[in-house]
Amino acid sequence: MTSTPELPLFIGGRATPSASQDRFANINPATGEVLAMVHEADKRDVDAAVVAAQAGFREWSALPGMARGRVLLRAAALMRERRDELAETEVRDTGKPISETPFADVDSAIDALEFYGGLAADIKGDHLDLGSTAFAYTRREPLGVCVGIGAWNYPLQIAAWKSAPALATGNAMIFKPSELTPTNAMKLAEIYQQAGLPDGVFNVVHGRSETGHLLASHPGVNKISFTGSVPTGRKVFGDAAAGLKQATLELGGKSPLIIFSDAQLSNAVSAAMNANFYSMGEVCSNGTRVFVHEDLHADFMALLKARTEAMTIGDPMDPTTRVGPLISKAHRDRVLEYVRLGIEEGAYLVTGGEPVNVPGFEDGNFVSPAIFDACQDDMRICKEEIFGPVMSVLTFREEEEVVERANATEFGLAAGVFTQNLTLAHRVVARLQAGSCWINNYNLTPAGVPFGGIRQSGIGRENCRETLDHFTQVKSVYVELGDVECDY
Ligand code: NDP
Repeated sequence: MTSTPELPLFIGGRATPSASQDRFANINPATGEVLAMVHEADKRDVDAAVVAAQAGFREWSALPGMARGRVLLRAAALMRERRDELAETEVRDTGKPISETPFADVDSAIDALEFYGGLAADIKGDHLDLGSTAFAYTRREPLGVCVGIGAWNYPLQIAAWKSAPALATGNAMIFKPSELTPTNAMKLAEIYQQAGLPDGVFNVVHGRSETGHLLASHPGVNKISFTGSVPTGRKVFGDAAAGLKQATLELGGKSPLIIFSDAQLSNAVSAAMNANFYSMGEVCSNGTRVFVHEDLHADFMALLKARTEAMTIGDPMDPTTRVGPLISKAHRDRVLEYVRLGIEEGAYLVTGGEPVNVPGFEDGNFVSPAIFDACQDDMRICKEEIFGPVMSVLTFREEEEVVERANATEFGLAAGVFTQNLTLAHRVVARLQAGSCWINNYNLTPAGVPFGGIRQSGIGRENCRETLDHFTQVKSVYVELGDVECDY
């Protein structure tokens, strides 16, 4: 009989047992199998991680950017060698299909390391000419110990998107993965170490909400980079405010995807499906309010229904699978409750929205992709983030009308526009209140393109050069070359 593996913390360059005996189970959402017993960090572990990170920071921040960049690039190369293993780990932790994880998870993480590894040598301040007897310059300095807190939907990608810019700029990081998906953050820590990262510069602390709060409120922490839901984001921002720490927040959304009557039909359907069913709909920027022009509606629905019903639901390790299980039983129940609510509110359930029994995976949290038609803006399924495979289709007639309805949300993460009229596309995109927009595609996030939300969807941008500003502070230095004037 094999015993269940343990997943310790990673502090100061070493796999470290938690100070308490507390453990929680990491469960495979496809099988219900316990993958590992995860060590839960308490205050003693968080304190130890902060001390280790402070020591790591002193060494790491003293290196030139070029040297830091080399470590990130070596880590990217090591990730590429372990691509299959990392992709499979992500499948076991998240339930997402293997047809996605090598690309959307591992490659995206590698891209982040390479992007910021390449920029590390070019992090610089400014020079100001103040006449012949003085000048000033600015230094872009790291913040110190940064905390990264991640959601469960893109665990490796989130860990890389946060740690790569933090480390490129000379900071140390303590990363807390979601309790539901803890494994790949540990593998990333091993990879960084193997790539030559000094001990203490990247630490992993496992735990639940209390551990997150301990990290966000710790006086030795200088910045928090958070990805998760709006309610938790508010708490984290509160902790940051109490300690006057910097914080960036990547939160939820209820984004619009607008399909005008001249849109290329099959592309529009493809994008709507990607925007709702990729990763079982567990994507923050999903275009869950699909506004379809009345003239295109019938054709759009016919193609959408046929293609959605053809999606293969099953073993996420099977390369032909397109729909894996939802992350947990609690989340599956929440998604199914929204389906029930949508029917009760009067939307028409075109297809899906049911629990699915996959032979051999009886404990898996499978739900068939759901399409609601005849939706109204004020239905809860059209206002609240469901974070599952539930698409709401709404119709519209006029440009002015659809822009107003698209913007009528508390969120502002993303938006999409489909039309072959590029004048119309740019005009509409300019008026959409969202941080990340796509024209004639959806949810693509190549490295370098800023990603992040406005309003309740967050503060700050990831995946781009601007992120370096969020992990640094400006010091200004005035230099006198002449005499000091003094009237006294
Ligand atoms: P949660 O907000 O529940 O959790 C996010 C992280 O915060 C987890 O690691 C969680 O730990 C931790 N946490 C919980 N309570 C606290 C606290 N009081 N202080 C500090 N940390 C805490 O989000 P989910 O993990 O459920 O992820 C889904 C949400 O994330 C969705 O709303 C989605 O839109 C959003 N998201 C946003 C993205 C973006 O880039 N804008 C990308 C991906 C997801 P634990 O898991 O152990 O509870």
